[in-house]
Amino acid sequence: MSIAAVTPPAFRSIYERRSAAKVVVPVSRHRVIMAVQSSSVVSAAPILTKLKKDCATPLPVLRHVADAMAADMRAGLVADGVSDLKMILSYVDTLPTGNEKGLFYALDLGGTNFRVLRVQLGGKEERVIATEFDQVSIPPELMFGTSEELFDFIASGLAKFAQTEGGDFYLPQERTREIGFTFSFPVKQTSVDSGILIKWTKGFAVSGTAGKDVVACLNEAMERQGLNMRVSALVNDTVATLAGARYWDDDVMVSVILGTGTNACYVESIGAIPKLQSNDSKSGRTIVNTEWGAFSNGLPLTEFDREMDAESINPGEQIFEKTISGMYLGEIVRRVLIKMAQGGELFGNSISEKLMTPFALRTPDICAMQQDTSKDLGHVGSILYDVLGVSSNTAERQIVVEVCDTIAERGGRLAGAGIVGILEKMEEDSKGLIFGKRTVVAMDGGLYEHYPQYRSYLQEAVDELLGSEISKNIVIEHTKDGSGIGAALLAATNSKYPHDF
Ligand code: ADP
Ligand code: MG
Repeated sequence: MSIAAVTPPAFRSIYERRSAAKVVVPVSRHRVIMAVQSSSVVSAAPILTKLKKDCATPLPVLRHVADAMAADMRAGLVADGVSDLKMILSYVDTLPTGNEKGLFYALDLGGTNFRVLRVQLGGKEERVIATEFDQVSIPPELMFGTSEELFDFIASGLAKFAQTEGGDFYLPQERTREIGFTFSFPVKQTSVDSGILIKWTKGFAVSGTAGKDVVACLNEAMERQGLNMRVSALVNDTVATLAGARYWDDDVMVSVILGTGTNACYVESIGAIPKLQSNDSKSGRTIVNTEWGAFSNGLPLTEFDREMDAESINPGEQIFEKTISGMYLGEIVRRVLIKMAQGGELFGNSISEKLMTPFALRTPDICAMQQDTSKDLGHVGSILYDVLGVSSNTAERQIVVEVCDTIAERGGRLAGAGIVGILEKMEEDSKGLIFGKRTVVAMDGGLYEHYPQYRSYLQEAVDELLGSEISKNIVIEHTKDGSGIGAALLAATNSKYPHDF
């Protein structure tokens, strides 16, 4: 075991931990010393000190979260409605092998954007012959509109994209184009190509979709567009990511999304799912979608989290998601800054309108502020001025960066603990099959991809919890855009046309 694994971080200062060899976060020791020397900073410090205490994730907290995650997973596999974790059966029990052939489409609705993709697959030798994609951002008003409006917008985007097909793409005559539909909201799957929306998350509040089959909603919209395509697989983005990563690497067993929202799925044995009624999985395994964003057990939360939750469109729900995912990290920081500013301790005496605007500070902004290594934190100053309309001195900027770091650290470390919970659950059921060999956790999502400090904190927590011996077998790997190809691959493995892959 490494020293990191046996010495709870609680007994070390945050600065020691941050300068530990493997964590690539700029050391900000001098900033903190300077901060203490400034009078305006001293008066803001009590809020920062309390924030750090409330957000602390020493090893015992991480351990509790990992254990509770594993326990909630087991409970959710026994029956529906008894656990925070829904443990949704994906009906995906054949994973891509590399032999898939033909033209397939993917459509991904996951949050801020929707993406369309086509891929020409050439089997083991040729693999991906050609791929093309397009991305359209969702107009904010559609996130609060009707189901028909949203699906019409998606179907028309898909129709435009399909019209541009040519070149390397080829579909035998008389075949309908098949789509893998990645839909990253909680769905009660009824078969591999149908599923009922349980509820919208990640800020969506579209009326008229909850309780409906989302494939039917899309089919109806495609019909209205005169578009002849067919959904062969309805999958969650985590499931698609797992499939996409597995296409290249047989050791992929878990996938995690850290983007606007968060979720995780993994390969489960049929025998470990008591709530499974009929068992027609030929492989004896199936992918289970945990919907871990709803996890809530033992998380270190602050007054800022509670207020944000209370004012959210889904109070009391998705607490893990609200603590670790991209949609919320910037907003939590904004709320802390308001409290500091209201005491007159940051940003002079005026509180700007922008600072008071919910979600004005986005996670990419706090990430950008953390990348500023200049002496006067000039870039932090510009972001605070441009985004929040506040002027700041160097000492104030140091405080702001510390707040960002505290929220990112908590998020990353808790995400890491969640991953360990999943791995430990799998290992308990089949000793040695996870920890005794190379096991890959496929990661995707803009937060994981673009926030280096968050990524380091996540890895650090995994290493602390597992110890160095085991953690060297666990590969946590970013698989960029795996979900697009993954969904197309699942359209292939679930094609209605005869195939032998
Ligand atoms: P989605 O989750 O909406 O499908 P992505 O996986 O691309 O889309 O994730 C987008 C999210 O990733 C954004 O909402 C934001 O929270 C986060 N993100 C994007 N860019 C950055 C960045 N530079 N730093 C930190 N977080 C980022
Ligand atoms: Mg996504």
